[in-house]
Amino acid sequence: MTNKEKNDQYYLAILKAEIDKLKGEKNSDEARLKEIQDDKPVSSDDVGSQRDDRERLEQEISNTEDIIHEAERALSWAAKNGFVCAVCRKPIEHDRLDADPASLTCKEHRDEEDTIEI
Ligand SMILES: [Zn+2]
Repeated sequence: MTNKEKNDQYYLAILKAEIDKLKGEKNSDEARLKEIQDDKPVSSDDVGSQRDDRERLEQEISNTEDIIHEAERALSWAAKNGFVCAVCRKPIEHDRLDADPASLTCKEHRDEEDTIEI
């Protein structure tokens, strides 16, 4: 195995672990949300705090879904092409991948990451 392949394997493993962790968080948030929905409120205060909890959880689940979506997009890109910038195809800097293994671009093209089509 070349160094480049070793590197790719390393970051792919981190990215997959990250996606698993996010899915686990989403599942437990969904389970909590269901518990709240099944709980019968005993007072009007409860109704208000249940609604707050529900909205907070729904927001969290939706944020987590967005992050999972981005991470899966990066994973399918990297599995096919390696960890190269989706704009210029240069290898993505290691410190950038260490900070965020779901990076799709090098530092120079980081501003294009959100709008890029892959
Ligand atoms: Zn680039």
